[in-house]
Amino acid sequence: MLKEFKDFTMRGNVMDLAIAVIIGGAFGKIIASLVNDVLMPVIGLLLGGINFSELSFTVKDAVVHYGAFIQSVVDFVIVAFVIFLLARAMNNMKKPVPAAEPTTKECPYCDTAISVKAKRCPNCTSQL
Ligand SMILES: [Zn+2]
Repeated sequence: MLKEFKDFTMRGNVMDLAIAVIIGGAFGKIIASLVNDVLMPVIGLLLGGINFSELSFTVKDAVVHYGAFIQSVVDFVIVAFVIFLLARAMNNMKKPVPAAEPTTKECPYCDTAISVKAKRCPNCTSQL
C-alpha cells in the first residue's frame, strides 16, 4: 500500500500537476496584486475616485455589495486577457517548421515520381 502510494505520487503527471498548481497559485497572487494594487486605483481614478469594493445599496435590511461583484468581473476579464496574451505568446514561439525542399517531381510523360535533378526519366526514358 505504501509502495503503491509512493508510485502514485512519483508518477510524472502527478508531479507536473503539483508544479502547475503551485505556479498557478503564485501566478494568481501576482494577478490579484496587479488588479488590486495597480489597475483598480487607476480605473477608480478614471471613474472619478470611485472605489468599487465599497459600492453598495440597501434594500430594506439587505446590503447589496454590487461593487464587489463589479470588482470580481473586472478581475476575471483581466485574468482572462493575461492568459490570452500568454497563450498567444506561446503559440508565436512555436514557429512552424519550414517545409522540406521537395526531392522528387513528377515526370510529365509517365506521371511517376523521379528526382528533381533528373534530366531524363529513368522510367520512360523521356528527355525532360
Ligand atoms: Zn517518365
